[in-house]
Amino acid sequence: MGIKAAAGKKAPSQKAKGPHPTGQDPARVREIVKHLAKAYPEAQCALKHSNPFELLVATILSAQCTDERVNKVTPELFRKYPTPEDFAALRPEVLEQEIRSTGFFRSKTKSILGSARKIAEEFGGKVPDTMQELLKLPGVARKTANVVLGTAFRKATGVVVDTHVSRIAQRLDLSRQKTPEKIEQDLMRIIPQSQWIDFSHQMIFHGRRCCTARSPKCWSCPVENLCYSEEKTV
Ligand code: SF4
Repeated sequence: MGIKAAAGKKAPSQKAKGPHPTGQDPARVREIVKHLAKAYPEAQCALKHSNPFELLVATILSAQCTDERVNKVTPELFRKYPTPEDFAALRPEVLEQEIRSTGFFRSKTKSILGSARKIAEEFGGKVPDTMQELLKLPGVARKTANVVLGTAFRKATGVVVDTHVSRIAQRLDLSRQKTPEKIEQDLMRIIPQSQWIDFSHQMIFHGRRCCTARSPKCWSCPVENLCYSEEKTV
């Protein structure tokens, strides 16, 4: 029959839709985790903070904004308003002006003031350290809660799935899901819990430095030999 498909038979598709047979293979996942850890040993949260509350505020501000921009705004903000009670007493118009340059400042103001008030009134002025309680804060979803729990409390309760982690998880075929919640479930299933915190930081570093949204720098990628993404540039 040679290399051509037999008459009447459909040639196999080059883009199989089902799960890739090796995409989540434990040995392959282990290799990816190992190479990313080796490539980015310094990976950590880039948001400036000195306590869990500052990290919470900075993480809320970082939505749809660069960490660099957030880091320009927060030092002065935390100097003027050092505690959740200080934020809770603020009028929304005042905070809106303070954080305007981070974008989406009205909804971020709502989340920050709502969270500060709840922390001041219901949690004794301390950021709670459980997923269940953090999710009760206005505007706090799993991504923000995972950042706070992992970085401020070193509690591995999940994998931070931001835009970088979503993109790379799909390119590396670690997940074929579309929503952050479902991608996180996939990653939690295949990555050992002891690695969740560092893996999240390493994926974010990889997304910023190498596996960028446009024109990824595949020639310098530490997991290039494990990647079969159609978006590869080599
Ligand atoms: S080879 Fe390219 S597309 Fe694949 S993970 Fe590396 S940088 Fe991203």
